[in-house]
Amino acid sequence: MTTIDIMSLYPKDMNIYGDSGNVLTVTRRLALYGYEPRVTAYNQGDEWPDHVDMILGGGGQDTGQKKIIDDLFLRADTLRDLAADGVPMLMICGLYQLFGEYFETVDGTRLDGIGVIGAYTVGQDVRMIGNLVEHSDDFGDVIGYENHSGQTFLRDGVRPFGRVDADGCGNNGEDHTEGARVNNVIGTYMHGSLLPKNPAVADFLIRTAVERRYGAFEPERHQNADQREALARINATAEQARRVAASRPR
Ligand code: GLN
Repeated sequence: MTTIDIMSLYPKDMNIYGDSGNVLTVTRRLALYGYEPRVTAYNQGDEWPDHVDMILGGGGQDTGQKKIIDDLFLRADTLRDLAADGVPMLMICGLYQLFGEYFETVDGTRLDGIGVIGAYTVGQDVRMIGNLVEHSDDFGDVIGYENHSGQTFLRDGVRPFGRVDADGCGNNGEDHTEGARVNNVIGTYMHGSLLPKNPAVADFLIRTAVERRYGAFEPERHQNADQREALARINATAEQARRVAASRPR
């Protein structure tokens, strides 16, 4: 068996600036590695599936965040347990904020988060917008696009996903951190979509999910020559996209 169960978390309300492309990317890459991706969309009120190997969540307007918050709390224990258990997760922007401790929106509404990530977020009037390159120890340069009003501050000891140069805002426009990494959970402000241009991050999520479920990630045992070639072509295109995106001004 080579099935991998991917959950797309709240795609109806939390999916902007192409974040659903992250789901397409892991699905396509898993298939080209010779595995069978199975995607479940989880929206408010849906049943929680029996098995989850990876969870991908997108960004959203403050209004979208308010819509899903009650349901998120119904699933908070499950999500915290899965995160503690090492399930790989990628939470972009609006869901990154709600995986933290709280998000106080610019209109003063306080949304409690589920506390997977030791961070809190406070909305401000000036939005932080622009193309962004961040430097990460684990994944090299990560390339994307940020657009948020929330300033996020990491608690002491919480590892950022990466660091931004002076021209980028990242978590808060002040301390040069971007995102957070807790266990195998990545929270980040990077839209884009993120994963098509950052195969190293996609492959981390894939490898972690496969190793947790099957003990080892062995594409060479599952992949045929056509799949290998297709993946090489995709990687070459991603490399080109990275070069172009990285050269774009903010
Ligand atoms: N609504 C949040 C903010 O503006 C998140 C935005 C987003 O997901 N792009 O900070």
